Amino acid sequence: MKNYLKILVIVLFISCGNDKKDPPILVEVSQTTIGHHIERLASDEFLGRKPFTEGEVKTVNYLKDEFEKLGLLPGNGDSYFQDVPMVEITGTPSENMVISGKNGSFNLELLKDFVATTNKVVTDVSLENSELVFAGYGIVAPEYGWNDYEGMDWKGKTAVVLINDPGFKSGDSTVFKGNEMTYYGRWTYKYEEAARQGADGLIIIHDTEPAAYGWNVIESGWSGARLIIENDLPLLNVESWISSESAKKMFDASALNGQDYKTISRKKGFKPIPLELNVSVEIKNKIKRDVSKNVVALIPGTDRKDEFIIYSAHWDHFGIGKAIEGDSIYNGAVDNASGTAGLLAIAEAFKKSNPTKRSIVFIAVTGEEQGLLGSAYYAEHPIFNPKKTVANINIDALDSPGKMKDLTITGYGHSEMDAYAKDEATKQNRYIIPDQEAEKGYFFRSDHFNFAKIGIPALYASGSYEGFDKNIEEVKAYNDYYRINKYHQPSDEYNPETTELSGVQLDLQLFFNVGLKLSNEDYFPKWYDGSEFKAARE
Ligand SMILES: [Zn+2]
Repeated sequence: MKNYLKILVIVLFISCGNDKKDPPILVEVSQTTIGHHIERLASDEFLGRKPFTEGEVKTVNYLKDEFEKLGLLPGNGDSYFQDVPMVEITGTPSENMVISGKNGSFNLELLKDFVATTNKVVTDVSLENSELVFAGYGIVAPEYGWNDYEGMDWKGKTAVVLINDPGFKSGDSTVFKGNEMTYYGRWTYKYEEAARQGADGLIIIHDTEPAAYGWNVIESGWSGARLIIENDLPLLNVESWISSESAKKMFDASALNGQDYKTISRKKGFKPIPLELNVSVEIKNKIKRDVSKNVVALIPGTDRKDEFIIYSAHWDHFGIGKAIEGDSIYNGAVDNASGTAGLLAIAEAFKKSNPTKRSIVFIAVTGEEQGLLGSAYYAEHPIFNPKKTVANINIDALDSPGKMKDLTITGYGHSEMDAYAKDEATKQNRYIIPDQEAEKGYFFRSDHFNFAKIGIPALYASGSYEGFDKNIEEVKAYNDYYRINKYHQPSDEYNPETTELSGVQLDLQLFFNVGLKLSNEDYFPKWYDGSEFKAARE
């Protein structure tokens, strides 16, 4: 009798504990699904997936249809779309930027030597003989005791600054974050700061190494139509980049002639230096207001449905642009048909698994290439309570020459998402490492950054260092080849015969596994002490 009771209690206990639900199933993320969606999204039919174009209509409808077919619910009320109002500014700068001084003037040539844009929603902006002042790295960072703008009234002036921050190649980890790029090193920050200072314009000097990309990326990224989200922040009349050759010409003609301006900029206590030159350039803008779309789909949880795991990937790319070797469609297979296909493949895996306790959200965001616009808009207008959003897993540009032993975490050391990633990596016989190229500032270059800004711990990672079958040098050569020959160029295409997807699959499997684990827990991963995002969570 006693034993009988005991067994009954145990049976009751087990069945209550099970609560009619089976344990989560680790479904395999399908490589066939991944390849299929990359092939479709990166085909010429999708016209390079540029917001505001027919390519956008095709892309967002494709994603909606695929989420619907998989049985996911609309993520934004009864809609799969979140409207993202944007302004499209198509600027036509003057053919020349004129630099003049005591000893005459010279011209910089549009696209070859300079690019110029504006975020001001007006039809005509210009710099007219605006005084050029060298402002080092263009950084105001009280925590590092740094102010490149100090002691000058910037009204009517144009600052000239270097890309990256003083820690770059300093060999000193106490200068900013040493070689790891801080947000102060990003061009977005530099334009924001110059505008806060009240300057007329800002010219960033391009340099391939500290910028982490060549002039060709500036040329294609900063010409033609650009998209912005309107806000109330101060804006510059002109935002510009010039090539390093043009900068040399400028400095040779300036009051700094003969001095090493890079070394000067690194010295603590740097003060702005008037170049005794003026700059003139004009931009005529065509302005169009329109609405682009984030695509949002949902798998509701069973008993903690108000808590969310958000997977994100940007669907957009550059559309149709300047032809290179006769090809003008910027297909963006790696960047970021791979991540968008990843959302669909992971969604499919969740639908094949058992229902999860927490809700799973998939957001394909717009406007990443124009400055993380879709995710910025989401962060300002979140659909799901950020305090109840457990984590963000962002997928951008997966590409590897096979299965990777490493999982390289961009933004390593910020949150307990590292530990979740490590657990799952270990199960795949892999190891985790921090971003080996932290000086390139990748942490600020994809959408997880906007989730982090509102306090949501984010994982942004991929295998990109050492392969199971490819050594470190071979992987590096593969990555370098992509960055130089394909990144943001029409040649970023998918070829079902040659594109290797086993490594992409392994990464997506890991992202699925991490999300699956989080989705059946009660725990909220924490930011580590010292992370600049911790405050936003608390
Ligand atoms: Zn990109």
